Amino acid sequence: MNSLPKSIQNAIDALSDLPGIGSRSAERLIFALLKNEMPLEEKIAKALLNLKKNLGECERCHHYCETIEGESNVQCGVCHDFSRDKKVICIVEEPTDLIAIEKTHEYKGLYHVLHGVLSPMNKVGPEQLRIRSLTERLDNTDEKPDEIILALSGNIEADATALYLTNELKKFSTIKVTRLARGIPTGGDLDYLDIGTLSRAMLDRREF
Ligand SMILES: [Zn+2]
Repeated sequence: MNSLPKSIQNAIDALSDLPGIGSRSAERLIFALLKNEMPLEEKIAKALLNLKKNLGECERCHHYCETIEGESNVQCGVCHDFSRDKKVICIVEEPTDLIAIEKTHEYKGLYHVLHGVLSPMNKVGPEQLRIRSLTERLDNTDEKPDEIILALSGNIEADATALYLTNELKKFSTIKVTRLARGIPTGGDLDYLDIGTLSRAMLDRREF
């Protein structure tokens, strides 16, 4: 018989669904919540319930951003920042990669978030990624950069995506396409790299 009351077991199971949280970690977190005298679970539940409520995608780069009620065109903090170098666009898989690059303080250009990589096995094709909006963005003369940096992970799917993008970008002959230098471990996700390695990879980027 399970020694855990159903309410505790349910909470553990729910937390364990998150990536990177095993049942042991979930158990520890739930017991910490039970022990805490402050109603921390209410605070967490409220924050989670509101997580997606006012959250949207930046119309330009597809990073997450706060939406304003009644407004459909919203831009993220990076796109809003007039001091950013508009002549460079860094293409990343996920918003977490953008955040990792921002932490290096080495990059001052703009971004484009794909929200994934091509993965035929998981039925992710170009249409599922924010690729069309990238080419539309580049078709707009005001948005054309001098350089596009492919800052993708070091795995087969990311490599296939980089190749696909390079072909798509060929028609923009004036744009130099670069990718992060070696140092990105094979199979490694960008946002798991330490800041130093990521900074170096960004500085040593080379033409694709
Ligand atoms: Zn943006």
